[in-house]
Amino acid sequence: MKPETRIGFGWDSHEFKRGIPLRIGGVELAHPKGLGGHSDGDVLLHAITDALLGAVAAPDIGSLFPPSDPKWKGADSAIFLWAALQRVQEAGYAVVNMDSTLILAGPKIGPHAAAIRARVAELLGIPESSVGLKAKTPEGLGTDNAAVAQVVVLVQKAPSSAAASAQGPVQDLT
Ligand SMILES: [Zn+2]
Repeated sequence: MKPETRIGFGWDSHEFKRGIPLRIGGVELAHPKGLGGHSDGDVLLHAITDALLGAVAAPDIGSLFPPSDPKWKGADSAIFLWAALQRVQEAGYAVVNMDSTLILAGPKIGPHAAAIRARVAELLGIPESSVGLKAKTPEGLGTDNAAVAQVVVLVQKAPSSAAASAQGPVQDLT
């Protein structure tokens, strides 16, 4: 029998690079540097994606969307999150809440926290009151040129498969 609830954990890091946009949690933040690497470098959405996949023991983001595949260069990371959400729903679960910590020297997340929480809530299809977001500076870690995201999600058995498909992810890529 499937357990009623499961948790998932996700971790990601990206290096800051000049001259590219900074996207965190699906929100573009004004900053001289953005996060390089896989897709649009959205460290928070990647960690959420891995947390969702981990909750249902699915393969991780790098296995499903290999960074070596040019198809994902510059891609909107919401695509990865939706695919992971689909896996959660196919396994018969729905997201209850998520919590996250960002570790980065800058920019300050406080002024953008409401916008990031709203966007993440929208992507996950849960209320903003179920999206936790905390930001820390990397004291003593020597990682001032990187952004790290840590995420946990709780999922619970969906009431029925019909309900699960009714609240399926929105395929609006804007
Ligand atoms: Zn990443």
